[in-house]
Amino acid sequence: MIYKEIAINTQSRREIIDITESVERLVNDLSFGDGLIDLFVPHATAALVLNEGERGLIQDFLSMFERLVPEHGKYMHNSIDNNADAHLISSLLCKSLVIPVAKGRLELGTWERVLFVELDGPRARKVRAYFVNG
Ligand code: ZN
Repeated sequence: MIYKEIAINTQSRREIIDITESVERLVNDLSFGDGLIDLFVPHATAALVLNEGERGLIQDFLSMFERLVPEHGKYMHNSIDNNADAHLISSLLCKSLVIPVAKGRLELGTWERVLFVELDGPRARKVRAYFVNG
């Protein structure tokens, strides 16, 4: 199994960043042909989403997060660490995505993109990528 990291410097408290091209670059650099990639987020206040990356939809995701878990709600965890909303949203999303790779290409649906979700930025983040040959 090959292991790589994708470094991401986020700019806002809540932010969604399309990292599909970074994942594709790793696949190309490794000349990885067929197998699976597991993308894993080692952060309790960030996550991944596999979905369309259209600009309006990105705003819709952020609006949904705010409706479900308001940034300035009342949370027990905020008495020790002012980021309960970030933990709660993160728990609803993916921490790990498995993506098939065939002939060096990510086997994504036509509109699917790998989206990194920052919930307590700005921070230096990383996504771990584990390559498993098929
Ligand atoms: Zn916390």
